[in-house]
Amino acid sequence: MRRKLAAGNWKMNGLAAQIEVLNDLTSRHPTPAVDVMICPPATLVGAAAAATAGKPLMIGGQDCHTAGSGAHTGDISAAMLADAGAGAVILGHSERREDHGEDDALVAAKTTTVQGAGLIAVVCVGETLAQREGGETLDVIKAQLTGSIPADAAADTLVVAYEPVWAIGTGKIPTLTEIAEVHDFIRAELTGRFGADFADKIRLLYGGSVKPTNAEEIFAVSNVDGALVGGASLKAEDFSGIITAL
Ligand code: PGA
Repeated sequence: MRRKLAAGNWKMNGLAAQIEVLNDLTSRHPTPAVDVMICPPATLVGAAAAATAGKPLMIGGQDCHTAGSGAHTGDISAAMLADAGAGAVILGHSERREDHGEDDALVAAKTTTVQGAGLIAVVCVGETLAQREGGETLDVIKAQLTGSIPADAAADTLVVAYEPVWAIGTGKIPTLTEIAEVHDFIRAELTGRFGADFADKIRLLYGGSVKPTNAEEIFAVSNVDGALVGGASLKAEDFSGIITAL
């Protein structure tokens, strides 16, 4: 019932020539069995949307401001991303939380803005290595979910990504049992807070060192509805393998 989602996060990577990866992906997957999304840097959103217009590949942003417009030098609004052709925005990625001090309240405000602009909010949560080793993982995830998803969030434009900070870009992944534990927990938390009708609609993505070689086993885990992929989304061949594995 939940359509799987393969989402790529290019982070701060990609000059104009990187658009060719999108052309390659759409020619390899003219009718994908899953939803496919790529979130390029803001400088490429317009070109990426133009390159994929009418094709089954959604373009997303990696962050936005809470305001619609105004005196915020260097920032980008959800309305601007939508205007440039984006259909989604990643919010609360651990690199935003770390590099820019984003807290749960700010992520919640951004989620409201993004959903208000008619875009999908991909809200990221995840524990650090110290938190996992301290046995705090589920407490951390619970607090981040509660704080980062506003009470009036809309189910049809919400995606949640579980990304253990220590698994991002490191080649390390949790055991499949650990992934299942957190994904089951997130589904149960959403059910408890918003009800089963709401929670059953939300796609839960796993993120952190997903590769074509480990994608299939991760996607078979309970309550994993797709992946948020960094490094392996930069090359069409790698991301294509992940799309196929879903
Ligand atoms: P990675 O990044 O796939 O390179 O580990 C994942 C992410 O940060 O979304």
